Amino acid sequence: MVALGVRSGVADGNLSSYLVRPLGTNEAVICDAGTLGHGLKRAEARGVLDDIPIMPDSALSRAGHVLKQTVRAYLISHAHLDHVAGLVLSSPEDTPKPIYALPETNTLLTEHLFNGRIWGAMGDKGPEPRIEKYSYKDMVAGEGQNIEGSGLEVTAWPLSHASTTSTAFLIQHHGRAILYLGDTQADQPDGPQNLQKLWKAIAPLLREKKLHTIIMGVTYPDAQPENALCGQLRPKDLLQTLRDLGHICGGRHHIRGLRVLVSHVKETFHEGNSPVQHIYRELQDGNDIGIHFMMAEQSARYLV
Ligand SMILES: [Zn+2]
Repeated sequence: MVALGVRSGVADGNLSSYLVRPLGTNEAVICDAGTLGHGLKRAEARGVLDDIPIMPDSALSRAGHVLKQTVRAYLISHAHLDHVAGLVLSSPEDTPKPIYALPETNTLLTEHLFNGRIWGAMGDKGPEPRIEKYSYKDMVAGEGQNIEGSGLEVTAWPLSHASTTSTAFLIQHHGRAILYLGDTQADQPDGPQNLQKLWKAIAPLLREKKLHTIIMGVTYPDAQPENALCGQLRPKDLLQTLRDLGHICGGRHHIRGLRVLVSHVKETFHEGNSPVQHIYRELQDGNDIGIHFMMAEQSARYLV
């Protein structure tokens, strides 16, 4: 996996986007696309795309090859701009691809983004005339789906995120799995318990040691008040839901050593301490469950 963008807030060159591919292949999917073209260029400069066996074509940079040839599909967790801005801006340079998402997300992209007014009608649904570069693939929650041309199987689950629905994607390949969560809030006592349902669905994979890495957002530090979370998590919220996950798996030993790559830390204009270090410290201070927290870094490559 290559992190193309890992933050939220005013870090507009570094917003959520992760390229995932089976090692040694020229096939990848991209989870969210807050920062896409810039993220690929940064990744190329860092050399983290060097092992992708691309078809030579002198006119294109390596980043361009990866976008046009390697990436087979987008998995979009929700339509908030910090998760789709890069997709919009790179779309004129892109090759035709499917966009996999829950129906609500695809409808928002169709009606409010690729609608011929905010941006070109890049999709195969919505008002005419359409460019039809992207084909919207509505996913059914909990049902695995093969991503054509990638050898990857993806399953989506809904997440609660302020006034919209977000998505978790489980990506599987030859019995190995990685789980990417778009923005999510903690389960509320009177809510749909979406995290609880997701944990129940993926618990067998943890018990069978097929899932070692989860990508999840922590947007604010612990001091952020409950009524100003905007559907996001603080370190204490992440720790609590991971304790729930351990319980659902049948014991904390099932999640000991689980790698949680922490994404989506909010960048602001405040002077002083790095919010990434601050959140990392709060996660470590409360880490009584043996989770291996890693703060996601732009242009870093992770073997999962
Ligand atoms: Zn969001």
